[in-house]
Amino acid sequence: MVMDLRSRERISALLNVRKELGDCKRCQLSQGRTNIVFGEGNPFSDLMIIGEGPGEREDQLGRPFVGRSGGLLDEALEGNNLTRDDVYIANIVKCRPPGNRNPSLTEMRTCAPFLNKQIETIAPKCVVTLGKVATEYLLQRNIKITQERGRAFSCSDFPHIFLIPTLHPSYILRNGGKGKDNLIRDIGYGLDLALIGNTPAQMRKEVDQMCMEQNQEDFEKRKLWPLLY
Ligand code: URA
Repeated sequence: MVMDLRSRERISALLNVRKELGDCKRCQLSQGRTNIVFGEGNPFSDLMIIGEGPGEREDQLGRPFVGRSGGLLDEALEGNNLTRDDVYIANIVKCRPPGNRNPSLTEMRTCAPFLNKQIETIAPKCVVTLGKVATEYLLQRNIKITQERGRAFSCSDFPHIFLIPTLHPSYILRNGGKGKDNLIRDIGYGLDLALIGNTPAQMRKEVDQMCMEQNQEDFEKRKLWPLLY
């Protein structure tokens, strides 16, 4: 395979992020981990999937979403004719929180600069966040995941990237599979936005234009695009 310079640069930038992370001991999660779970997938994808933190299986294998929730994520990707090779998958924290507890704010703040560098390097058009913890961290506000999932927001630190929150696969598994359709649909929406390729600001301009042409009321726009208005 012949790789152009920009492709090489992207891969080398990603390798540098991994190198900088090193044998990380920056927070207490390092004490209990077996492997760092850096993230994996297609570094040229326009769609990134971001979870909360590795579970037991991920910790053993050093790969994201390879346990039971990973199986469900794979199904949701397949439901959109995608495989793991079509997207890039990472987590807010790269080491397993003991007993699968939620990562603390300090742990997330310590680890997220590396995720941010991955996002900057991969430069996706859209990020789908799995579950409340990852979504709240990236949106920097509290949310009600069951009410706000499946809508388009933009990331606080990356205003040019769409963020679609969806249910965490492990939450769906705990609920006997209820919500799986939403997971599939929300990833599909993320894929659509990634393929359209507009930034949230460009999209806002287009929606404004269309609403003006059709004399749509402002509140109709807000219903359509809660993030944008
Ligand atoms: N749950 C997550 O949030 N991330 C993983 O990698 C696995 C399970």
